[in-house]
Amino acid sequence: MTVEHYWAPRSLPDALEHLRGGEVTILAGGTDLMPQTHAGRVTLKRGLLNVRRVPELQRIERVDGAVRIGALCTITELLRDPLVRERFGILAEACDHFASDQLRNAATIGGNVCNASPAGDTLAPLLVLDAEAELASKPNGTVKTRRVPLAAFFLGPGKTARRPDELLCALRIPLPPEGFVGRFYKFGTRPALDISAISIGIGGVRDGLALRHARLAYGAVAPVPMRATKAEAVLEGTTLDAAGIARVASAARDEVRPIDDIRASAWYRKELVFNMTRRMLDDVAQA
Ligand SMILES: Cc1cc2nc3c(=O)[nH]c(=O)nc-3n(C[C@H](O)[C@H](O)[C@H](O)COP(=O)(O)OP(=O)(O)OC[C@H]3O[C@@H](n4cnc5c(N)ncnc54)[C@H](O)[C@@H]3O)c2cc1C
Repeated sequence: MTVEHYWAPRSLPDALEHLRGGEVTILAGGTDLMPQTHAGRVTLKRGLLNVRRVPELQRIERVDGAVRIGALCTITELLRDPLVRERFGILAEACDHFASDQLRNAATIGGNVCNASPAGDTLAPLLVLDAEAELASKPNGTVKTRRVPLAAFFLGPGKTARRPDELLCALRIPLPPEGFVGRFYKFGTRPALDISAISIGIGGVRDGLALRHARLAYGAVAPVPMRATKAEAVLEGTTLDAAGIARVASAARDEVRPIDDIRASAWYRKELVFNMTRRMLDDVAQA
C-alpha cells in the first residue's frame, strides 16, 4: 500500500485525532521502521504519523513517587539525564550498551518498547523496574489515557497490547526504594553495534546477603522480553552464597524458552543465562 497522507502534528490531541481511523503507521526515530520497510517486512499504512514534534512526548518528569519518561526520549537523552542516571542506573547501563552514537541520537525509548523485539535493550531493565506503558487515545473527542504494566504489554514478537488508535505517551517507572540494586548484562556476537543474543536484568532491595522484591528479566530468550517469575521466587530472600546463587541460576535456565537463530543456539542461550545470572548475582553479593 502506498502512503497517501503524511502528518507531523505539534500537539498530543492533534496526533491522536489522526490515529482515530486506524490505518496509520506511527513514526518516531525510524531506526526500526525504515529498515523493516526497506526489507519488505513491514508495509506502511495509508497514513504516516510522524510524532517527533509532539512536545507532550518529550519530557522526563517526576510524578507522585514515579518518573514519567516521554516516549520520544532518545537513548542519548536517557544517558544524559541526571534523574535516570541516579535512580534508574540499570536503564542507563542498558543505554550505554545500545548500538552507536548515531543510532542513540535517533532511537527513542517508545520505539524500542513498541517495536516489541524480544531483544530490545531497554526492555529487561524496564521490566525489572516495574515500568508501566502509558497509552493515550481520543475515542470521542477527549483524550483518554490508560496504563498497562509492561509485563502484560508484550504479546509476541512485534505484538503489543497497544490498540491501533492509541499512542504510547510515556513509560512510568516507580522510584525504587532505598537499598535498590540493579544490574544489566548484554551479550552479542560483536562487542559493538550488535543486537543482543541475550540480555539480563536483575534488581532487588538489599537485605544483608539477600534480595527482597527480587526481579529477574531476560531478553531474547522467549517470544517476548520476560520476567522469570519462578526464578524470582527462588531468588526472593535466598542467601546469595554459592549454593543459593546456583539454585537461582538453574531455575532461570529452566524457565527461559529460547530458540536457535543466527545469533545463538537455544542451548548456548540457556548456558549463557545460567552462567551470567550466576556471575551477576555473585557481583551483587559482593557489592
Ligand atoms: C544498526 C542498528 C543497530 C541497532 N542496535 C540496537 C541495539 O543495540 N539495541 C536495541 O535495543 N535496538 C537496536 N536497534 C533497533 C532500534 O534502534 C531500536 O529499537 C529503537 O529504540 C527504535 O526506536 P525508534 O524511535 O527509531 O522507533 P521507530 O523505528 O520510529 O518505530 C519502531 C516501532 O514502534 C512504533 N512506535 C514508535 N513510537 C511509538 C509511539 N510513541 N507509540 C506507538 N507506537 C510507536 C512504530 O510504529 C514502529 O512500529 C538497532 C537498529 C539498527 C538499524
